[in-house]
Amino acid sequence: MNNINDNVLLQLSKKLFLVNNRLNKSLQNNQKIIDQIKQKYEPRTEFNRWRSSEEGKLWKKQQYQKQKQCCAICQEKIELKGSHIDHIKPLSRYPDLSLDTSNLQIACGQCNISKSNSEILVDENAI
Ligand SMILES: [Zn+2]
Repeated sequence: MNNINDNVLLQLSKKLFLVNNRLNKSLQNNQKIIDQIKQKYEPRTEFNRWRSSEEGKLWKKQQYQKQKQCCAICQEKIELKGSHIDHIKPLSRYPDLSLDTSNLQIACGQCNISKSNSEILVDENAI
């Protein structure tokens, strides 16, 4: 009697092991799909897509003229080509504003990069 029970238990545990393995594989696949979806709709990705679109390019040209061809941060004259679109409220902390044009301005590369570096420092201090 004990032997039969042991055998049944062994069979069951083997089956459970296999089911568990299958579930793990399935969960891993789901996670991959979730990551792909997140990647697609991640605010930075969405912003980059908008920036390359006709709408984004047109906005940049118009904003450049509004700013009288100057960097919004250092006020120096800049070329449209090579200028950056800067998030006034940083994308990392305000992802909802990633495509809000009232949160966007044109900045020279130097200003935009030093601004993002200082954001990183501020973030580090906040932790
Ligand atoms: Zn500048």
